[in-house]
Amino acid sequence: MADTIFGRIARGELAADIVYQDDDLVAFRDIGPQAPTHILIIPRKSIATLNELEPEDAPLVGKLLLAAKRIAEQEGIAEDGYRVVINCNAGAGQTVFHLHLHLLGGRPMRWPPG
Ligand code: 5GP
Repeated sequence: MADTIFGRIARGELAADIVYQDDDLVAFRDIGPQAPTHILIIPRKSIATLNELEPEDAPLVGKLLLAAKRIAEQEGIAEDGYRVVINCNAGAGQTVFHLHLHLLGGRPMRWPPG
């Protein structure tokens, strides 16, 4: 797949405000936050969109969600509540084609989303 800014962040080639990283994933603050806490959680593996996920990626997806839970606790938003979003493709607002979870919190969330 084509290289993206998130691929460069995952490889340490582009700076980011990293809050957590391990062998499988990197979590960093969104450059244009939509909430007081807005963190992006990405796999190091290059996966363009949710549509490209394969069954063998299931453990990786579990790690991404568990990281969201842990980071929400660290950020102090777990109790009040937070939202985890994956935009898939342009119609849903995806602009960076490297799979990522948005972890949003620190303010009331409305439903339905825009
Ligand atoms: P998407 O719209 O693809 O779901 O989300 C992409 C997100 O990446 C947006 O919220 C945008 O603000 C964020 N973003 C884009 N470029 C950068 C960057 O260079 N650094 C960081 N930290 N976030 C970025």
